[in-house]
Amino acid sequence: MFKKIRVRYAPSPTGYLHIGGARSALFNYLYAKKYNGDFVFRIEDTDVERNIPGAEVSQLHDLIWLGIIPDESPEIPNPKYAPYRQMEKLDIYKKYADELVEKGYAYECYCSEEELAEMKEEQLSRGVKSFKYDRHCLNLTEEEKAKYIAEGRKPVIRLKMESGVTFKFDDLVRGEVSFKSDDIGDFVIMKSNGIPTYNFAVVVDDHLMEISHVLRGEEHLSNTPKQLQIYKYFGWEAPTFGHMTIIVNENGKKLSKRDNNIVQFVSQYKELGYLPEAIFNFLFLLGWTSEDNNEIFTKEEAIKAFDPKRLSSSPSMFDNKRLKYTNSYYIKHLDDEKYFEFVLPFVKKVAELNSKSENELKSIALIFKNEINTGAEIVEHLNEIFDLNKSMSEEDEEMMSLDSSKLVIDEFKKELSNLDEINHETVKALFKNVQAATGVKGKNLYMPIRLKLTKVPHGIEMYNIIGILGKDECLSRLN
Ligand code: GLU
Repeated sequence: MFKKIRVRYAPSPTGYLHIGGARSALFNYLYAKKYNGDFVFRIEDTDVERNIPGAEVSQLHDLIWLGIIPDESPEIPNPKYAPYRQMEKLDIYKKYADELVEKGYAYECYCSEEELAEMKEEQLSRGVKSFKYDRHCLNLTEEEKAKYIAEGRKPVIRLKMESGVTFKFDDLVRGEVSFKSDDIGDFVIMKSNGIPTYNFAVVVDDHLMEISHVLRGEEHLSNTPKQLQIYKYFGWEAPTFGHMTIIVNENGKKLSKRDNNIVQFVSQYKELGYLPEAIFNFLFLLGWTSEDNNEIFTKEEAIKAFDPKRLSSSPSMFDNKRLKYTNSYYIKHLDDEKYFEFVLPFVKKVAELNSKSENELKSIALIFKNEINTGAEIVEHLNEIFDLNKSMSEEDEEMMSLDSSKLVIDEFKKELSNLDEINHETVKALFKNVQAATGVKGKNLYMPIRLKLTKVPHGIEMYNIIGILGKDECLSRLN
């Protein structure tokens, strides 16, 4: 029977939406949209101590901001599959864990932390590389259990791994992958406080929510055989898995949260003035190679182009330059009204522009439409123009000390004080007049004025600088 495509993104509410998480969410979303499926957002909140209030909502809303819009979530649950938070379904996990215990597929373990540490130590001393629980509690009698309980011990539940079995699956990204069950110890599925572990809860959730495909980070690859064992014990059909490659920085190192050269959280991108369409596009190419090397994809184009077979199987490099380029591309292609909506909040951060009208702010904003890579950059550009506390380079100081520079500045001042309207034409004519009066031209004509007004030798066109600063401020700077 044809099975509906249902995929999910299942973050833990332990922080803001990370760029890696957003990428996983994006590819699940594309999968769903490509094949008319559902994209589910649900919450893995069983690591109670690490949960942060507000993290769930901020992650969900950052996803929606990116255009990765869930069909189901704690905010829009489908009653058939609710609840969407693991801590709200502890009774369900308990029921399934009990079932495994009854069938002999799982068992209570009373070993204490100290005993487990000793066990690990002992295995290590024998040269065992990866620790495996020694099944001390596998066949406890009722009396032994009663004795432990009397001591105040509370059991965890461990899954009993089958021996001599190979778990094979066809990974969407890496093809056939296999794991030997003998390499995996009996792992905990329920903690002594009645809270399930990730590997158990995720299987129950994926099964009950009828998830058909799981696209997630490579770090979960080694969890998959554990999950397959659980599916097998229940007789449930496992979803199709795909493990996406890691994201690396420009030095080829795995992206770490401490990597200061890379902005890591979607909320930071929002604050810095990145457009959601640009991040969406960038993330799409961070795990995907387009057939014709096209770099610009709208959401609709990404959905159309998506094919799970083209998910990249080598690490994806986080290319800051491409990210900036992509954002500037989307900024340039905004229509002016959308551009104002996007950029005016940034322009309004510049205190010196407080007295300007909305229309004046819009004209100033337009000057930078083709200049900026991010919204925050317009603030930098404007601050640079207004800031007189910076010092000039030696070369620029030299230029200013030329006799011709003094001549040009004096003449320019005179001309400017008589100027009524500042625009491209009038300022061009003004420079012509100064040239005629002083005989100075080219760099020696323009540079002293630019340096006198902004102290930097580059930037937007002079008439724009004069327009932004205003005539009075320019005259006072020229003095
Ligand atoms: N909460 C897990 C994570 O954020 C989800 C893993 C999964 O998709 O199975 O990595």
